[in-house]
Amino acid sequence: MASQLTVRDFFKRFPDDEACLTHIMQVRYGLKHDCRACGVEATFHRMSNRRAYACSHCGDHLYPTAGTIFENTRTPLQLWFYAIYLFVTTRHGVSGKELERSLGVTYKTAWRMGQQIRDLMTKADQFDMLQGHVELDEAYVGGHRPGKRGRGAAGKTIVMGLKERDGRIKAEVIPNVKMPTLRGVVLRNVEEGATVSTDELMSYGLLEGDGYKHGAVKHGAKEWAYYDYRHDALHHTNSVESFWRLFKKSVAGTHIHVSQKYMGRYLGEFTFRANHRQMENAMFDLLIGAV
Ligand SMILES: [Zn+2]
Repeated sequence: MASQLTVRDFFKRFPDDEACLTHIMQVRYGLKHDCRACGVEATFHRMSNRRAYACSHCGDHLYPTAGTIFENTRTPLQLWFYAIYLFVTTRHGVSGKELERSLGVTYKTAWRMGQQIRDLMTKADQFDMLQGHVELDEAYVGGHRPGKRGRGAAGKTIVMGLKERDGRIKAEVIPNVKMPTLRGVVLRNVEEGATVSTDELMSYGLLEGDGYKHGAVKHGAKEWAYYDYRHDALHHTNSVESFWRLFKKSVAGTHIHVSQKYMGRYLGEFTFRANHRQMENAMFDLLIGAV
């Protein structure tokens, strides 16, 4: 299957709610699987009077949407699928207004759907500790005046990004930029022994005692990269900074303002896309199957 999911592909694959339900069944259980009730590897048939499948051996009813965001909703499955499609294929995020327009639902419904999909993206992207060479960089986001990097600027949320060189990314909201907070972020997310590149916010060698090879670039002194012969590593934070550039630009352009309360979800949305880029079909099914 191609990695890109065009809108034409989308409507060909999911022409109606029925096709969507079948897809959820296939992604979560398979049309043939070991029945949870009788234990027999059985075929499951669509029941005509409810959103369920029945085991051909014992007749047990299986509701494929149980436990998913599709379970207790009056919004048609195809609209949910299309909303998820928009989240998977966008680069700058999807605003409530845009969802309202594209789906033809009320703004309130659109907003709620958006938050539920972001939640799903955040949960679907939990993984183990980062390894190898990891860059760290903090950012101040979400205030009304985008782009100004003032420490502790009013209305802004402090966020920390951690990115493996050419690899996965994580991001989280942090309460402040004090040493114990910053050190805690690294200990929670980065495997011991990894090389860690930061800016001077984390004083050079701070993490050495915790078993990391740490280098700090002095951005204030216009030092953007340096080679550490001791650890044989090039220290810079360019890849995580480019993630923050996209994130800030997108939040300012698409959402205007994101409050601290919801910031975690928006981070989850953007890191999920960054971690699964080039695999829109896989991203899509990951979210469809998530509970
Ligand atoms: Zn059965």
